[in-house]
Amino acid sequence: MSGHYVSLDLPWYETRILNCSFCGKMVAVQYWRVDSFPMEKFCEPSCADVKRGLQSQLGNSKDKARKRKAT
Ligand SMILES: [Zn+2]
Repeated sequence: MSGHYVSLDLPWYETRILNCSFCGKMVAVQYWRVDSFPMEKFCEPSCADVKRGLQSQLGNSKDKARKRKAT
């Protein structure tokens, strides 16, 4: 999976809290960014993996339904 950690690089007095887009866990120093979800911030690669897995499952079942209708 293509992704990388992005450092938040916030000053120590910055009180904004960033939460993982998937599990809601607080992200303190760096977040995991993936190309599949450029607007999302994940606390760790596994969160992005799970989210992507869920979405591809949905996509697959939709494709199957479409194919079944067509035939
Ligand atoms: Zn997470």
